[in-house]
Formats: sequence, structure tokens, C-alpha cells
Amino acid sequence: MTFKAEYIWIDGTEPTAKLRSKTRVLADGAELPIWGFDGSSTNQADGHSSDRVLKPVFTCPDPIRGGANVLVLCEVLDIDMTPHSSNTRALLTEVADRYADQDSWFGIEQEYTFFKEGRPLGFPIGGFPAPQGGYYCGVGADEVFGREVVEKHLDLCLEAGLKISGINAEVMPGQWEFQVGPAGPVEVSDHMWVARWLLYRVAEDFGIAATLDPKPAKGDWNGAGAHTNFSTKAMREGYDAIITACEALGEGDKPLEHVKNYGHGIEDRLTGHHETAPWNKYSYGVSDRGASVRIPWQVEVEKKGYIEDRRPNANVDPYVVTRLIVDTCCAALEKAGQV
Ligand code: ADP
Ligand code: MN
Ligand code: MN
Ligand code: MN
Repeated sequence: MTFKAEYIWIDGTEPTAKLRSKTRVLADGAELPIWGFDGSSTNQADGHSSDRVLKPVFTCPDPIRGGANVLVLCEVLDIDMTPHSSNTRALLTEVADRYADQDSWFGIEQEYTFFKEGRPLGFPIGGFPAPQGGYYCGVGADEVFGREVVEKHLDLCLEAGLKISGINAEVMPGQWEFQVGPAGPVEVSDHMWVARWLLYRVAEDFGIAATLDPKPAKGDWNGAGAHTNFSTKAMREGYDAIITACEALGEGDKPLEHVKNYGHGIEDRLTGHHETAPWNKYSYGVSDRGASVRIPWQVEVEKKGYIEDRRPNANVDPYVVTRLIVDTCCAALEKAGQV
């Protein structure tokens, strides 16, 4: 007997990487081998020396094929077995290991938009739906579009054992969100990439495309973000550490370093309107959805908990955003002796 392993990897498409996958049939009980692919077709090699290596790093049951079949998330390596330049996971694991003692947790809110026939699902041909207001967490066929896909996606993520923690309809028709976490930086990111793959894959079966475009409709419509919630052990135990983390994110060149790695097209989304802070002006505040970083109200009441970095775009690479936050905040917490 055999089983199917779907090898999934992140390609080298600029400015935003895409997911790729292909299937390997393996004998029952076989270990998941290292595999290869044509890097010249994914912007990861030139045609003269095109081989790149797929190294399995995270495996879960394949909820689409069922049975003994599996999904296999991979890192991309060069043929000398060193990380390929597009391999942001390898950079993250290094930083995550360095600060492992601080026990970082992340919860990422992935917003996305369904498209069908070239327009957001629920948008009428050649025009616009009623303005924003009723769609967020809405109910009813006049306000909610694509729920059958969203429900199916949630079930698939749960069957795969991913740490998905919720879903909601967003402020624009056809726009939705799912949350992954809380989990450590590498785990939340691996689960997020597989959850994204499952989203695209299940939407296929409905003839619908899902996109992480951060500004899928021009005009008076919210963009799509990936709010990134973060805590360390010290932040979960006390408020001083919460403030240290908020201040660290605002120090010197940090705001710009973060924002320019938070997803292509971020200036178009972080305008200072539509529940965003301007991309070039860092701020933090309690309950403030117009700030770069929000301290949830109950965190201020309880004087412990987590913070929400509201800046990342929907198209952010979770390996990059978690690495930058760990690097910036954990270094500052260590320096302040708050570990
Ligand atoms: P919002 O109110 O901004 O819409 P959500 O409920 O969509 O927030 O998402 C909050 C996310 O924060 C969830 O993924 C949740 O698991 C995560 N979270 C909760 N507690 C923590 C924590 N201590 N550290 C990191 N993330 C957390
Ligand atoms: Mn949310
Ligand atoms: Mn949201
Ligand atoms: Mn949020």
C-alpha cells in the first residue's frame, strides 16, 4: 500500500512569495525523504543550475485527501544543504532559539478576501455594494459571502491539527479572517503557511480564489492585515514588560525596519484611516485601533497579558514578522532584566 505526501514550499516570487506544492507517492511506513524541484520555475534558481532541495520541517494529516495521506511543509535549501536565500524560516529558528528562555507566544489574525470573476465576492458587476458598516461579523445572505468556504476551511484546519483559534467575517463583503495561535514563533508560522495553503486549496473546489492582497478594493474599503499578537512569559506576568515591549518597537530605526518588512504595499494600507496608524509614525495605546500597537483593555486592567502589533499586512511572511518582534522585544526585555 501507499500514501500521498503533498510537499508544500514557499517560492521566490517578488515582491511577495507564493506557495507551491507537488505530490509524492510513498510506500506505507516510509520516512519522508528530502526531495527536489526546479528552482528556475519558482524564481529560486537560474536554468543552468536549477535544482533546489525540499527539506521536510512540519507534517500534519492531509484533511483533503484523508486516510494516511499527509501535508509536508518544507524549507528550501541549496544543493549544498545550506538555506536558500528565500528561506526565511531558517533565519527565524536561529533567533527563536536565542530567546527561547523568554517563551514567546504569537497569535496572528489572518485577513483575506475572496475573489470570483475578477471582483471581490459579493461585489455586483460593474459597481459597488452598500458601504461598509453591516458586514463585520454579519449574518444573512445580503451581508455575508463565502461562508460555506470559510466553514470548510476551519474544519480542515482542525482536522489537520493546526492551532486555528477562530474565524470572523470582516468589514468588506467577501473579506474574512482566521486566527492562528497562541503558539511559539516557529509553530505559529508553520501552521499559518499550511492554513493559507488549505485556504487556497479548498477555495479551488468552490471556483473561488482567496487573496492576501493588502488593499484588494480601492476607495473607502478597509485593507487586509495580519495583526500580530505577542507576549513573553514576563509580559504574561506583569505590566512593566508590556510597556518595555511597546517602547522597544518604537525605538530609533525600529519602526521603519519593521514596517518595511511587514508586507509589500504597506504604505497603501497604513494610511491613518480605516483603523490604521500612518506607516511612518509609530504609536501605542490602550484599546486604540488607530495606533500601531494596541494594548487590549483587559491587559491594562489585569496589568499583564499581550500586545497587538496592528501594522503587518495580510501578505506578510509570518517567519519574518515573528523574527523581527522576537528580536526587537526580547533583546529589550533581556536588557531591562525583565525575563
Ligand atoms: P481582535 O480583538 O484584535 O480581533 P482576535 O481575537 O482576532 O483579536 O485575535 C487575538 C489573537 O491573540 C488570537 O489568535 C489569540 O489566540 C491571541 N492571543 C491571546 N492571548 C495571547 C497571548 N498571551 N500572547 C499572544 N497571543 C495571544
Ligand atoms: Mn481579529
Ligand atoms: Mn480583523
Ligand atoms: Mn486585531
